[in-house]
Amino acid sequence: MIGDSPHEECGIIGIFAPNEDVARMTFFGLFALQHRGQEAAGIAVSDGATVRLHKEVGLVSQVFTPQNLAPLRGHYAIGHTRYSTTGSSSARNAQPFLIETRHGPLAVAHNGNLINAPTLRQELLDHGVGLYSSSDTEVITMMLAGAEGKNWNERLKNSMSRWTGAYSLVLLTRDGVLAVRDPWGFRPLSVGLLPSGGWAAASESGALGTLGCEAIREVQPGEIIALSNSALSVQQALPPAPQLARCVFGHIYFSRPDSFWDGQSVHHVRQKLGRELASENPIEADVVIPVPDSSIPAAIGYSAFSGIPYNDGFIKNRYIGRTFIQPTDSLRKQGVALKFNVIVENVLGKRVVMIDDSIVRGNTTGPLVQLLRQAGAREVHVRITCPPITHPCYMGVDMGAQENLAAYRMTVEQMRKLMKCDSLYFLSHDGMMRAVGRTTGYCTACFTGNYPVAIDASYIKTGFEKSIAD
Ligand code: SF4
Repeated sequence: MIGDSPHEECGIIGIFAPNEDVARMTFFGLFALQHRGQEAAGIAVSDGATVRLHKEVGLVSQVFTPQNLAPLRGHYAIGHTRYSTTGSSSARNAQPFLIETRHGPLAVAHNGNLINAPTLRQELLDHGVGLYSSSDTEVITMMLAGAEGKNWNERLKNSMSRWTGAYSLVLLTRDGVLAVRDPWGFRPLSVGLLPSGGWAAASESGALGTLGCEAIREVQPGEIIALSNSALSVQQALPPAPQLARCVFGHIYFSRPDSFWDGQSVHHVRQKLGRELASENPIEADVVIPVPDSSIPAAIGYSAFSGIPYNDGFIKNRYIGRTFIQPTDSLRKQGVALKFNVIVENVLGKRVVMIDDSIVRGNTTGPLVQLLRQAGAREVHVRITCPPITHPCYMGVDMGAQENLAAYRMTVEQMRKLMKCDSLYFLSHDGMMRAVGRTTGYCTACFTGNYPVAIDASYIKTGFEKSIAD
């Protein structure tokens, strides 16, 4: 849904493709990851001697042109599409970060958030390392530049033991691409074989599918995979955490429905989330409608289980950039009307079940209910495919501060009254995990407050920027 879902993470991609236009392939891969971040995009390419970079604020289609892609020649590339997690959305924080090190050039693209970045950042400053941005990715890059080890795998391994939190990374060196995942497995990262015989790693298997990849597999938690030869080189740098912590929101909202997360089809899990909702809280109604796009599979599942017909209720205007309607609450509310039109014939005089993925601040569900009522819906019953979000995320998903979370401030009944719906129901934690098909191995901290790693609650997203201004 729009505006009131957890804001997405970043998208990363790394490619080794000899004799191919690797920059253009990376560009297409970033297109397939655009939903994970719309604030900035960048590609770095190495031809074995020189690394070249282009990055700017904007959508992938705005940042890249045939003219600025043409000089990015080589066999190895990494790319990034950014939603700001640590650090603001300024150009300084656009990725990949590219620096010259004593071991040659190094470019880094990161998805996630290091919980201990403030401490690590201070250590770098204390050692006289100057920092240019407010991003924890720069902290990662500078730590790698100074790390001990006779090759990048060793330097990575030595640095990983100091990093706490979420990091899926792609690194570009002069002569290779490395794909890295934290030992908890918070964020996704998959690798696949390109039709040309090279390799690609990406945040989502759906993006690898776009590039025609086969033999797709996850980078396992704690692994470093080198993409620089005809065979993958895999190293288990750190043991997987005793309790893995894949972000359950990958299933609920973030991932493309054609992606696999934890080996499961995201589309299929979303259908099961809808079935669980229908089974936990049956209701009499005439039509089930999704809030497009992420809730479509759940509404299909809800309909299949309940027997209530599925239909489209909202048509989404896909060409209103989200960045234009996010900054303030009032613009977010207007954004709902700008973003959706109701198909009146499908809801007029009907008892409507509206399926949505989540409620964060609670400022868009009410306007959607209002749109349905204005279109003549007789009743509106809101069903949410996850439990109430009561705790913020410190692992790279922007939900804002705890006091802004609707479910932290209000009971479900208070939310229902505010949103002016006839009923409001959130899927239970057990129901969600039944749909996911696991009892462990996932982070669900935003629903429970049980964080898989120790949290410094004083941490804030833009905490590094007190002394750096644009
Ligand atoms: S706290 Fe929530 S959003 Fe953050 S990693 Fe855990 S499940 Fe994902």
